[in-house]
Amino acid sequence: MKPIIELKNVSVSYGVGKSNEVNAIKNIDLQIFPGEYIVFFGPSGCGKSTLLYTIAGLESATEGDVIVADRNLNTIHSGDLISFYRDTIGMVFQAFYLVAHLSAKDNMMLSKMFSGVSVAEREKRADELMLKFGITEYSDRKPGMMSGGQQQRTAIARALMNDPEIILADEPVGNLDSKNSEIVLELLAKINREEKKTVIQVTHNPKDTHYADRVFYMKDGMIERVVKNAKAARSSTGQGEMSEFERLSQMNPDLSHLGVQAKLMMRSLLMPYDITTEQRIEEIIEKFLKKEISKMDLLKYLDDSKIGAGLYSQKARRITDIIDDSTKEISKINEVRSSNVSADTQVKTEAMIVRKHLLDHYLGKCSLEQCQRLERGISARIANEISEEQFRTFLSNPIKKDGVGLNRLTAKKFSKEVELVTSK
Ligand code: ADP
Ligand code: MG
Repeated sequence: MKPIIELKNVSVSYGVGKSNEVNAIKNIDLQIFPGEYIVFFGPSGCGKSTLLYTIAGLESATEGDVIVADRNLNTIHSGDLISFYRDTIGMVFQAFYLVAHLSAKDNMMLSKMFSGVSVAEREKRADELMLKFGITEYSDRKPGMMSGGQQQRTAIARALMNDPEIILADEPVGNLDSKNSEIVLELLAKINREEKKTVIQVTHNPKDTHYADRVFYMKDGMIERVVKNAKAARSSTGQGEMSEFERLSQMNPDLSHLGVQAKLMMRSLLMPYDITTEQRIEEIIEKFLKKEISKMDLLKYLDDSKIGAGLYSQKARRITDIIDDSTKEISKINEVRSSNVSADTQVKTEAMIVRKHLLDHYLGKCSLEQCQRLERGISARIANEISEEQFRTFLSNPIKKDGVGLNRLTAKKFSKEVELVTSK
């Protein structure tokens, strides 16, 4: 499927060349597909609004290409830009921005005033939307006489008046209590589901991300990681299966990518320890992943009972080796990801690297047939054509039944490792 929104190496800076220059977003690459519900999530000041406004054509990229609904916003003519604002993009803001002296219905009709549509038709569209959104009874009310939730529902209805393909909502529930937040988010989800609109919602609150197909975690003007939601994972694999990385990411929305990776490594290597030890080990692993400490330091910390985790020496050494190896695989894979090879070659190369790593560690040797199947299975898993569960079944199925023929425990360990080294 072709993306409806595509950003290629996009940076946006404010006050370029001045002493107060701010690089609000940096080298962002992203693709969003028709009908997706996307959330941009991150702390205040990380560049969420800037990114959203750049997609809306309200900020222009200092660098890179912004392509929305087949238009390159860098080269678009001003006439086309107006029809782009009017027909392609619907915006929703935290502060609603309804005109104070107009009724709810007139606020909605205002947005269609310049589109050459008759008053009667505009009224019809407004009535339909209000009915659908359960706000018909507020039709004649001015914003001052409505609750925040009612005002935001009106503002969303207004954004839909011209039937745009894309709805962009900047902190749409930032001013609402939790009950009204849920009503408004449910409404956005409904528009996404029933009207097939592509929705991008910005939020700094981890509680407001649950309708997303994918959550883009942002930090310091960059997208740190992209996490699929349970709902999306269900529809893409038919199994309700999330990878362990995705599950941990969701449970720990404030952790960095490396933080989640550290947690994952810790889980698959060390369970079970008490919480304090777990936390200490995670911190140490993360330091190592960030290259703040060396392999020797890692071993020392894991081994040391005073400053570190106090594991038995032998165990500390084994764990250090595995972490070190996995890290090398991760960086090899990242290298492949950032090089300019085709997606197909990329998946194949990743599969080869992962297979080699796993064979080195767990199997030693296997038959040619097994190796080939393994590599095909890993490719399919990396390309997300099969779920983690399906992959595990494939590994443990007997060779006669087209499986790889590993025993269940090895299959489980194996698939865990694949998730570990391939999680983005
Ligand atoms: P968020 O929406 O995640 O809070 P923003 O996109 O609003 O983040 O801001 C990102 C960075 O850009 C911040 O450091 C902010 O101060 C700065 N910034 C945003 N808008 C402007 C502007 N118009 N002029 C100068 N700096 C800005
Ligand atoms: Mg903002």
